[in-house]
Amino acid sequence: MRDDTRRWIEADKAHCWHPFTPQQAWTDGEPLVLVRGEGAWLWDSEGRKYLDGNSSIWTNIHGHNHPALNAAITRQLGEVAHTSYLGFANPRASELAERLCGFFPAGTLERVFFSDDGSTAIECAMKMAIQYRQQTGEPERTGFIAFDQAYHGDTMGAASLGGVSRFHDRFRRHGVPVTFVSGMGALRHLPAEAVRSTAAVVIEPLIQGVNEMRPWPAGMLRELRAWCDAHDVHLMLDEVMTGFGRTGKMFACQHEEVIPDFLCLAKGLTGGYMPMAATLATAAVYDAFLGADDRAFYYGHSYTANPLGCAVALASLDVFEEERVLERLRPKIALMAELLDELRTTTPRVRAVRQCGFVAGIEVDGGGAQVCLAAREQGLLTRPIRDTIVLMPPLCTTEDELRLAIRAIAMAAG
Ligand SMILES: *Cc1c(COP(=O)(O)O)cnc(C)c1O
Repeated sequence: MRDDTRRWIEADKAHCWHPFTPQQAWTDGEPLVLVRGEGAWLWDSEGRKYLDGNSSIWTNIHGHNHPALNAAITRQLGEVAHTSYLGFANPRASELAERLCGFFPAGTLERVFFSDDGSTAIECAMKMAIQYRQQTGEPERTGFIAFDQAYHGDTMGAASLGGVSRFHDRFRRHGVPVTFVSGMGALRHLPAEAVRSTAAVVIEPLIQGVNEMRPWPAGMLRELRAWCDAHDVHLMLDEVMTGFGRTGKMFACQHEEVIPDFLCLAKGLTGGYMPMAATLATAAVYDAFLGADDRAFYYGHSYTANPLGCAVALASLDVFEEERVLERLRPKIALMAELLDELRTTTPRVRAVRQCGFVAGIEVDGGGAQVCLAAREQGLLTRPIRDTIVLMPPLCTTEDELRLAIRAIAMAAG
């Protein structure tokens, strides 16, 4: 082991506290220290190279070290790194808000509220949903409906919407009251009083990520939109994972031609470069916040609408157009389906495969963590969710790289 690697690991073990990590086991192990990236590849401090099989925890879109994204940040850095959005506008935020709203028909999602990560995008939508009701004469509508096994982030409000008991139960009674349902059937059977006290329903459209990459039945999102309309309940879509091309379209809701009242975006917004999020709201929601000063949305963070984040988000949207990313993704999604099918039929330990666009969950018999560790030896980095191996490499991954990733999993699980 190189001296600097050893030094970094020692300092980590002495002082760092990692997310979602049992630290006892962590300090017994030898973590990889990631130092460099290029396209779909990452290098560790020992010079070993790995395919980024989960897009650096679902964030990366066009690959690492992309010249256009790098240039956008450098250009912005030459102007200014950060200015306050409280009381001031900034050019990149204006341009980005306009671009994001441009994906949706006029009169629908017309406003963008910036924040820092997926959890705050959700937090913000929740507060907007509650305050909207206070300002439209329905203050009793304070509740939320969420789906079993959902994941919407870790801040107290967002975590209240989470249906993953091992993450969230411990904080349950400290959060916002939420009614959980398993699907459309259970939603339709909720008592009328429960529905009348609901401000919004929140869902990860098309596929639940943390729930071992489980797709919803086709058509479900459209049914949910209709149910929301019929009951005057807002629809809040969490596209933190599915946004920005992951499912084959720019946004998952476009597959079912659904427009939500709130759309939460983060992870891929900056191409996976900077922590930044956006909550889009409809014109109708926004209008309820106009008028007297006390109708304002009193919420924000120090780095709201950070110019570096906005600049790289804009550059990422440009890359989608210039590199025809979605068009070139189509054959790769088809290839992924083929390779997954082959993996399932030829690898006895692979129990099931699930796919939605360029996202896959590969369920193995026992030991998801062990399979991921073995895949690392084969040059693939990813993490399991229990016994499901997540495969969602950057959208720029080539067909050969995709073959390599699946081969690594086949060897690891073989
Ligand atoms: C990751 C994720 C979040 C939380 O985003 P953070 O940036 O980690 O706060 C929320 N919802 C979904 C669907 C996610 O995948």
